[in-house]
Amino acid sequence: MTSEETLIELMRRIGLDREEVDERHRLLDWQRDDALRLSRAANDMTEPHQRFVERLYEHLGAFPGPAGLINEESTLARLKHSQLEYYERLWRGPFDREYLNGRLRIGLIHQVVGVEPKWYLAAYRLYLDEMNDALFGDHPQAATAASLLKAVFFDMTLAIDTYGAAQRRALEDSEARFARALRGANDGLWDWHLEHDRLYVSERWAQMLDLSRDALGEGCAAWFSRVHPDDLPGLRQAIDGHLGGRTALLHHEYRIRRRSGDYLWVLARGVVEHDQDGQRRMAGSQTDVSARKAVEEQLRHAARHDPLTGLANRLRLDELLKQTLQQLRKPGARDAALLFVDLDRFKLINDSLGHHTGDQVLVEVGRRLSQCLRPGDHLARFGGDEFVVLLTDLACIADAEQVAQRMLDGLYHPMHIGEHTLVVSASIGVAPLRASADASEALQAADLALYRAKQAGKAQFARYSQELQAAARRQLELESALGQALEQDEFILHYQPICRIEQDGPYLVGVEALLRWRHGGQLIPPQEFISSLEESGQILRVGDWVLRQACQQVRAWQQAGHDQLRCSVNLSSRQLQQDDFVARLTDILMDTGLAPDSLVLEITESQLMRDCTATLIALRELGSLGVRLALDDFGTGYSSLGYLKRFPLHILKVDKSFIDGADPESLAISRAIIGLGRSLGLEVVAEGVERAEQLDFLLGENCRLAQGYWFSRPRPAAELVQLFGEERGADGFRRLMPEPRSFTSRRERQI
Ligand code: C2E
Ligand code: MG
Ligand code: MG
Repeated sequence: MTSEETLIELMRRIGLDREEVDERHRLLDWQRDDALRLSRAANDMTEPHQRFVERLYEHLGAFPGPAGLINEESTLARLKHSQLEYYERLWRGPFDREYLNGRLRIGLIHQVVGVEPKWYLAAYRLYLDEMNDALFGDHPQAATAASLLKAVFFDMTLAIDTYGAAQRRALEDSEARFARALRGANDGLWDWHLEHDRLYVSERWAQMLDLSRDALGEGCAAWFSRVHPDDLPGLRQAIDGHLGGRTALLHHEYRIRRRSGDYLWVLARGVVEHDQDGQRRMAGSQTDVSARKAVEEQLRHAARHDPLTGLANRLRLDELLKQTLQQLRKPGARDAALLFVDLDRFKLINDSLGHHTGDQVLVEVGRRLSQCLRPGDHLARFGGDEFVVLLTDLACIADAEQVAQRMLDGLYHPMHIGEHTLVVSASIGVAPLRASADASEALQAADLALYRAKQAGKAQFARYSQELQAAARRQLELESALGQALEQDEFILHYQPICRIEQDGPYLVGVEALLRWRHGGQLIPPQEFISSLEESGQILRVGDWVLRQACQQVRAWQQAGHDQLRCSVNLSSRQLQQDDFVARLTDILMDTGLAPDSLVLEITESQLMRDCTATLIALRELGSLGVRLALDDFGTGYSSLGYLKRFPLHILKVDKSFIDGADPESLAISRAIIGLGRSLGLEVVAEGVERAEQLDFLLGENCRLAQGYWFSRPRPAAELVQLFGEERGADGFRRLMPEPRSFTSRRERQI
C-alpha cells in the first residue's frame, strides 16, 4: 500500500469526513474569531516558540524513551525546525484539508517510529505552559494555571490509555477466540491477493503438508504446483466459478502433495472480497479430510466387491462394462469379449459338504480363474457360482476362446479343501463385446452361449452366434405360446406299444402315452417343451390332462376287448411333489374306471434324487394303491443301486442308448441291467429296439419286454388301434400286427 493509500484508509477508519471535522470544532467551541485572534498575535510569538522548542528537547532528553530516538545532532536540528514550523502554523492557520492530512501523516510516522502518546501530551503541556508564561507571565495566578494544566494533562494521558487499552483488549479477545476456534478446527488458513498474486498461508496450512511456511513460495504457484494433476482442473474451475459469481462460496475437495510425495485429501473453503479499488482477495480455510475420504473409499470398495472372494461384484462389473463399451466405440479400438463362467453341479458340493466348503471352493475358483488373466482383464463374481470375465485389448476373438480353455484346464486340477479332494468343472459362454451393444445385451449373449455349453454336456465352452440367438428367440416364442396350448387344445397324446416278445412275434402288453404339441402346423416333440412346462409350473395341469386322457383311452381299449392292456404315463418330479397328487390320481382312476394295477407311472432317476423323503412317501402311497412304478431311462443317471432297494419299484426300463450300442461295453451293460432287474424281481423293459439283431440279443438274454420303432413308432390312438390283432398269446395278450406301409411312409413330424 502506498503512503497515500494508507492515509486514505486511516481517514476512513477514523471517520474523518467534513461533518466529523465540523463537529469536533463545535465541541471545542472553535469560532472564526479564535482563528483571527491567533493569527493577529502570531508575530509576537516567535521568541516564545523558540524558547519552547529548546525547552522541549531539553525536557524530553531527560527521559530514556525519547532520548533514544533523538540521538543525533542533525536529527535534532531537523526536528526542532519542523516543530517550529508546526507551532507557528497553529497560530496562523489555515486549518484546511492539507493541514489535516499533514497532522495525520505525522501521527502515522510517529506511531511507526515509536513516539508514545504520553510524550505528545507532555509536549503540548509544556507548550501551553510556555505560551502561558509569554502571555500572562506577570499575572498573580499564572502559576496556578500552569499547575492546573499539569493536572488536566495527566488525566488526559489516563483517558487516552484507558480507551486504547480497552480497544486493544477487545481485539485481543476476539483474536484469541479466533485462534482457539482455528486450533479446535485444526484447519489451515490461506489468504490470496489475486491482483498481486500474493499468497499467505498459516503455519497449520503448511504443516498439513509437512512443510514450513518459509519453504513455500509467495504466489499461488506454491499452492497449485502441489495439487494432484488430476484434481487441478477441477480446483481451478471451482475457483473461477466462485470468482465469476456462480457459487456463493468456494467449496472444493482435492488432493495436495505432501513433502514425502504422497497426497493428502483436503477441503478448501473460501470466499472472495473486493476492496474499494475493485481488487480481489480470496481467503479461507483448508481442512484435512483424508480420514473421511478413506472411509468413503472403503464403503465405495465394499459396495463394488464381493466380500467372500474380494472380486468385483455386479455393480462394479456394470461400470467396467460401460467403460469398455465406450472405449470400443473409439476408432482403432481392439476387440473385447465376455466370458460367462458357471460351475457345473456346484449345488451338489453345497448340499453334500456344506456351505462352508462351498465358499472355500468359490474362493479357490476365483483364484484360479484370475491366474488365467492378463493385467487389463477383469474378473467379477456375478452371484452364486457364476463368474464373469471381461477381456479387453484382444487381437481377435479367438484369443478369448483360448482364455476360456485355459480356465477349464486350470479348474480341472483337484482342489484340496479341508479333508476333501474335489474336482470342479465349469461351463463357459464366450461372447464378443460389440460397440453397438449395451452392457445387458453383452451379458445376455454370454449367458446364452453358457446355456449352450451346459446343454452340450457341461465342462466346456461355447461361443455365442447369431444362430444361438435365433434359437433362443424361437424358444422364447414357443414358451409364450405354450402358456395357451392347453386351453387351445393343442396337446395330443401318441401311444407306443410295449410288447412281450415271443418266438412267433410280439404281443401287446401295454402302451406308453407320449405327449405332443401341435403348434404352427408342426408336431413338437416333448424334449422341446417339457422343461419349459416344468419351469413355469404348467406341467401340473398338463400332467393331469395327460393322465386323465391316457387312462380314458386305455380303459376304452380294455373295454373293447384288450382287457389286459397296461397304460404307461411319464411323470415329472413336480407332479410327485404335490401334496395331493395321490388323491388326484385316485380321482382320475375313479372317473375313468381304469384299475390301479393297469397304470404304470414312469419316473427317472434324477427325479428320485431330488427330494428323497417326500418322493419316497408319495411312491409308497402309490404302491399301496396298486399302481405300478417304472424307473425310466435306467443307466443314464446316477444308477444308484440304492434306489432300486429303497423305492417300491416294479419295472426297470433299460435306456435305448445301451440297447442301441452294438459295442461290447453297451452289450455288457445291457446284460448286467437285465440280470440285475431280474434278480431284484423287477420286470425289465428294453427301450429303443429298432433292429432285428437287438431283438435276438434280448431273446438270448431272456429279456421279454421291449419297446421301440421295430414294433411301432408312437402313434395317435386311432392309428395305433389298427395294429391291435385279435389273436391271443399264452398269457392272454393280443398279438401286435406289423406296421402297414402307409404308416412308415408318413412323415413323423406332421400331424
Ligand atoms: P421316455 O419316457 O424315455 O420315452 C421314450 C422316448 O423314446 C419317446 O420319445 C419315444 O418316441 C422314443 N423312442 C421309442 N422307441 C424308440 C426307438 O426305437 N428309437 C428311438 N430313437 N426313439 C425311440 P419322445 O416321445 O420324444 O419323448 C421323449 C421324452 O419326453 C420321454 O422319454 C419322456 O421322458 C418325456 N415325455 C413324453 N411325454 C411326457 C409326458 O406326458 N409327461 C412327462 N413328464 N414327460 C413326458
Ligand atoms: Mg417313458
Ligand atoms: Mg425312456
